[in-house]
Order: sequence, then C-alpha cells, then structure tokens
Amino acid sequence: MEEIYAEVEREVSGASPRCDRSGACCRFGEYGHRLYATRAEALLFASRHGAPQGPVGEETCPYQRDNLCTAREGRPLSCRVFYCDPGWKERGEDLTERMLRRIGVLSERLGIERGYRPFLEHLRAMRADSGGGAGSWQS
Ligand code: SF4
Repeated sequence: MEEIYAEVEREVSGASPRCDRSGACCRFGEYGHRLYATRAEALLFASRHGAPQGPVGEETCPYQRDNLCTAREGRPLSCRVFYCDPGWKERGEDLTERMLRRIGVLSERLGIERGYRPFLEHLRAMRADSGGGAGSWQS
C-alpha cells in the first residue's frame, strides 16, 4: 500500500494541482461531497493513528485541525487525490480509478474485503471497536 501511495504522491506532485489550503475538502457537509476509502486503507490508517478520540459525525473529518490534516501518514487514497482545482478533476478521477484497481488487487491478495465506503463510516466503526460507540469495526 505504501508503494501505491508513493506513486500517487509522485503523480500528484508532478501535476501540482492548486490547493488554497481552505480545508473545505475535509469538511464534507460544507463542501458537499463524501470521501470514500477501502477497508484495507482504513486498516492501515488505524494502524498509524488508532481510533478517533471523540465522536465522528457526518460533516467533518475529526483529524482536521485549523484547516490542516493532522493524520497525513497513512491517509487514504481519496485524501491524497482530491483537490478542488477544476483543472485537476479529470486527471484526479483517472488516478483514483487506476489506484483503486491496484488497491483492489492488493486487498484480494491479502484476503481483505473491499469494504469501499465513506471514510467517516470507517472511522466510526474504529471508534466503536475501541469502545467509543455503537457498531463493530471488525465485522
Ligand atoms: S485524514 Fe486528513 S486529508 Fe483525510 S479527510 Fe481527514 S483531515 Fe482530510
């Protein structure tokens, strides 16, 4: 997975999509989008950051502070690829599709279900599994 993420970083930094550092892309309700992740990515994220410390709502990623991501290491593909730069949209979608296919192959090889769903759902399940709420991360 780290190899896939490194390749993503190379492609993104090579294209340099515009980022205004508004942080709006991680405030999903405000921005009007949902950011998805596979289960394999969520497992990697959990191994780096553990479960969220507080409740996870529907609107904002709990790892965003002062408009910045505090969990950059191991963050999912969608966090790495999404930019609000309209000039990047098509290329970002293409990159996402290509890398999701590779993550799918990797997941299959590791026997991990695809589990592609909103990242906040993964975070809620992690928190629940750690004793912080309802649901089950392991199921
Ligand atoms: S992990 Fe970081 S980049 Fe991803 S949604 Fe949360 S704050 Fe944004």
